[in-house]
Amino acid sequence: MLKIGLTGGIGSGKSTIASIFDSVFNIPIIDADIIAHQLVKPGQPAVLVLKKYFGRSIVDDDGRLNRKQLRDLIFSNPAKKKQVEDLLHPLIYQQMNDEFSRQSSPYSIFCIPLLMETKMEPFVDRVLVVDCSVNCQIKRVVSRDKLSNDRILSIIDSQVSRDYRISHADDVVDNSKSATQLAEQVKKLHNQYLSFSNC
Ligand code: ADP
Repeated sequence: MLKIGLTGGIGSGKSTIASIFDSVFNIPIIDADIIAHQLVKPGQPAVLVLKKYFGRSIVDDDGRLNRKQLRDLIFSNPAKKKQVEDLLHPLIYQQMNDEFSRQSSPYSIFCIPLLMETKMEPFVDRVLVVDCSVNCQIKRVVSRDKLSNDRILSIIDSQVSRDYRISHADDVVDNSKSATQLAEQVKKLHNQYLSFSNC
């Protein structure tokens, strides 16, 4: 079974593409963000580990991770941020592998926004990048999340560049066009992945 790592900058279209693989081709989507959220629910291993390292204040009275507290803790403190990532990432990847092992499809899509930033490309068999211009990203995120241009730009700046992403991709989806053109590209990729998985 093949592992396809789907990545791209904020607003590039990862969720949109993942939902085509899922709804049209019935391909399992293993989403790092969803898993990260599940792992910080009350009583989950990640909450216990974070509490052990950073103290009780990181957890609310109901046992839920206090995200604001965590954000404040790592804000402009790269060492703490790295510590949190070093604790959480192995748990997230372990959970993704567990989900993958339960699949019987010829391939699965791993939606991992920060695949390249966390240098986890070797975790997947192929890297699929969804690409559009920075202007296009900003326009889409503004209408989706109502964030300011400055905030979106600072998120884009914190991610790898468009050129870097494309040069490290095995496959690239151009998501600067219409939904129909997007669906055609996904169909081609689906057939390609099926043929790879038969080898
Ligand atoms: P990501 O998951 O990479 O952050 P999304 O898939 O959520 O990005 O896409 C960002 C926004 O842009 C969403 O509101 C989505 O509906 C919209 N969008 C994605 N692809 C297209 C497209 N080809 N044309 C128009 N809007 C799009």
